[in-house]
Amino acid sequence: MENCLFCRIVNKEIPSRIAYEDDLLLGFYDIEPKAPVHVLLIPKAHIESLNDLAVDHSILMGHLTLTIAELAEKLGIKESGYRVIVNCGEDSGQEVAHLHYHILGGEKLGDIIAR
Ligand code: 5GP
Ligand code: ZN
Repeated sequence: MENCLFCRIVNKEIPSRIAYEDDLLLGFYDIEPKAPVHVLLIPKAHIESLNDLAVDHSILMGHLTLTIAELAEKLGIKESGYRVIVNCGEDSGQEVAHLHYHILGGEKLGDIIAR
């Protein structure tokens, strides 16, 4: 989608530090990391939020879910532990309307991640 920041990152129109890429997914480092390791894992397809998922996305989302631990291993946080956060909608503070999974780790994270 033309005006979507993360679609532009997927299309390499905006540079990012890539941690993982395959045909369906992109993992890239958050520009304002909230932990020593902070990567965003996204479907390449433009899906605004969890609210927009349909049965047709089952294979994609299964693949995304299975990729989280693989990516955590690559990032060196699989054994030490990590947190996965998905914001959805206004009250959550979702800023970018392209579904993204925050993967955070590299230190003890405390009870909650807040700004
Ligand atoms: P949200 O609040 O929507 O769940 O998270 C959006 C995330 O995207 C934030 O953590 C923010 O730092 C990150 N972000 C915003 N713009 C950019 C960008 O241009 N590049 C990268 N790598 N991350 C971004
Ligand atoms: Zn998008």
